[in-house]
Amino acid sequence: MCGIVGYIGHKKVSTVLLDGLRRLEYRGYDSAGIAVINGGSIQVVRSAGKLRDLEESLRLTNLEGTFGVGHTRWATHGRPTEENAHPHRDCTGSLVVVHNGIIENYKDLKRELSAVGHQFKTETDTEVIAHLIEENRKKTPGLALEEGVRRAVPRLQGSYAFAAISTQDPQKIVAARNGPPLVIGLGKDEYFVASDIPAILHHTRDVFFLDDREMAVVTDGGVVITNADGHTVKKSVQRITWDPIMAEKAGFKHFMLKEIYEQPRAIRDTLLGRVSQESGRIFLDEMEISDQEFRD
Ligand code: GLU
Repeated sequence: MCGIVGYIGHKKVSTVLLDGLRRLEYRGYDSAGIAVINGGSIQVVRSAGKLRDLEESLRLTNLEGTFGVGHTRWATHGRPTEENAHPHRDCTGSLVVVHNGIIENYKDLKRELSAVGHQFKTETDTEVIAHLIEENRKKTPGLALEEGVRRAVPRLQGSYAFAAISTQDPQKIVAARNGPPLVIGLGKDEYFVASDIPAILHHTRDVFFLDDREMAVVTDGGVVITNADGHTVKKSVQRITWDPIMAEKAGFKHFMLKEIYEQPRAIRDTLLGRVSQESGRIFLDEMEISDQEFRD
């Protein structure tokens, strides 16, 4: 289970992203990164380890921009290194993706995309999403990011939540879900994408969740949701009335009670992005638990 945060608005983007990621730390992670777009240029800062390592790298970079995405990664495919940390770029470096989950057919897609000239730089399954979108846009010059994503999604097998941004699509975040949760937050002239409500609750209380196989196009003018057939979906906005502390307690009287009741969901959410729906294989490689230890 990793953390995704996206932001379009008037506040300092990198600060909002980092703060959101911090509030998703409870989900567990091994590396982190953010990408911010400023006009025609994109800046990506990533780091292995904890968010304070990322913060350190950010201190050395002046990350200015008007929208961006951030990610805490819990590796399933590829070592927990800086190179494998999200966001991942396409060949041009102008489009990036953050992703939670597993793309089960990534090897086939990688082979197919490499054969038509795409250069892969990481060991992750995620990188294929960026190159797939790039390929769709290469075939149809001028194709909007959401259309590139819409054409990529049916090619992806597995469970995923992801968000993509591109310098060619100013003030726009495209997010898609098939499995791991994604919440959209509506603020005053600002919009958010996140893996869970606490990441954005300090900024807005008006939210809605994407359902499976839905896609959100978030711009500075609003949010449009479409389903797998491309039809617009009307969502009712949920107003979260809890204060941030209550939200962290999810309405329970105290944290211990919350943790007891949350156990089934915590296990389900933790494993959701790490179980292959096709083979039933569980990806916990980096924990290096031997077969014998499991048996014991
Ligand atoms: N499968 C992806 C990776 O290994 C995403 C992992 C995650 O959900 O953090 O990079």
